[in-house]
Amino acid sequence: MSNARIPDHVVVVGAGLGGLRTVETLRAEGYAGRISLVGAEPHPPYDRPPLSKEILAGAWPDERAALRDPDELAALGAETHFGVAAVGVDESAVELSDGTRLAYDALVVATGVRARLLPFQPEHPAVHTLRTLDDCIALRSSLAGARSLLLVGAGFIGAEVAATARTAGLDVTVVEALPVPFERVLGEQMGALCAQLQEENGTQVRAGVRPERFTDAGGRVGVRLVDGTELVADCAVVGVGTVCDNGWLAGLGLAPDAPLSCDYRGLVDGSSAVYAVGDIAAWAHPTRGEAVRLEHWTSATEQAGVVAKRIAGTEITREADLVPYFWSDQYGLKLQLVGRPERAERVEVLHDPGTIKGTVGGYFAEGRLVAALAFHAPRPLARYRRMIGAGADEAQVREAVAELASR
Ligand SMILES: Cc1cc2nc3c(=O)[nH]c(=O)nc-3n(C[C@H](O)[C@H](O)[C@H](O)COP(=O)(O)OP(=O)(O)OC[C@H]3O[C@@H](n4cnc5c(N)ncnc54)[C@H](O)[C@@H]3O)c2cc1C
Repeated sequence: MSNARIPDHVVVVGAGLGGLRTVETLRAEGYAGRISLVGAEPHPPYDRPPLSKEILAGAWPDERAALRDPDELAALGAETHFGVAAVGVDESAVELSDGTRLAYDALVVATGVRARLLPFQPEHPAVHTLRTLDDCIALRSSLAGARSLLLVGAGFIGAEVAATARTAGLDVTVVEALPVPFERVLGEQMGALCAQLQEENGTQVRAGVRPERFTDAGGRVGVRLVDGTELVADCAVVGVGTVCDNGWLAGLGLAPDAPLSCDYRGLVDGSSAVYAVGDIAAWAHPTRGEAVRLEHWTSATEQAGVVAKRIAGTEITREADLVPYFWSDQYGLKLQLVGRPERAERVEVLHDPGTIKGTVGGYFAEGRLVAALAFHAPRPLARYRRMIGAGADEAQVREAVAELASR
């Protein structure tokens, strides 16, 4: 135990993955004080990854997205405020949309992010974004009566929606402003492979052209591209990234639309009682110092663990995993990304079996492996993840490549 004072009342705002994991870890670490969990959505905490996969496909019932059953939630002994948003805050209390004022000794912000909208996006029942369970249910119902889908933006969530719709037999077209989808995140070579995966499965990819406006297509959805082409589909999904929505934190002097900058263990800069975890949080890297924000399931879980331990006064012996991990399921393949590809100076295919399945790309900076992307190759990926953590150089990576290839 550290000597820091243990707070009497912890208020956790945001009842998604990060919020729930914070509460669970607080209790697991023996914190016996009062906990309040506030969530703007009416649903108890649920998981988002199945919203673009099994729940959207109708392969799982909606209830299966729930992260815990009601008994498990009740056993945490937290006061829950679901369907109620935090609308204001000062140095000592959070104000809720139902008028409740919750005084806090420690505040954890786990509010995630919102889907970004296009400036010209219409309010139309067949034009969707996907962030919440309710978004997923609305999209699923549109897809059920549709024969074609248009995706604006080729991020991971969009690619998964495309795969789910295509697997269900819809005609799917993806429009992406970048010349190569995923280029910014994965680099040209690996991004092209992601696009190839879509195309090999019958999804049309139109890259390098920007949508200009939505058009009225007689009950269907039309999108006019800057090159003059008009695409028409029964429904559309806009997947152009996310935005931070921190207006309620203005009372703490925080920007309304920027990630929350934190130290390397989640304490918001300039505060002694406010922490942030998950998609909304930008934690300082413990050794390099730069702020890193990750919209990854694993990262929200790990950060919640660190912050809860810190609040409960438990000694933290290991930092949150320094090698980020993200996965995506598309067309029966599991794509797995470890590390920080945006740091790379050079990308190289490490394993090329001649098919997309089994291909592994390595990302290098300053002679070291900084990231790896695997298309359904979990074993090599696990090895490279450890190597990234250990700071492996190019020679060590070559040895591993040769050894893995000889198996
Ligand atoms: C469709 C989809 C698929 C995904 N698939 C993958 C995947 O395959 N792999 C992967 O690694 N990651 C995936 N992710 C990302 C992953 O789900 C997120 O990184 C994770 O959910 C982040 O957790 P969080 O607690 O920060 O935020 P969230 O899970 O978004 O929870 C935040 C909660 O806070 C609530 N909230 C916001 N503002 C307020 C307020 N003012 N007051 C009260 N409550 C508030 C929100 O309503 C929300 O319920 C996916 C995300 C989506 C949307």
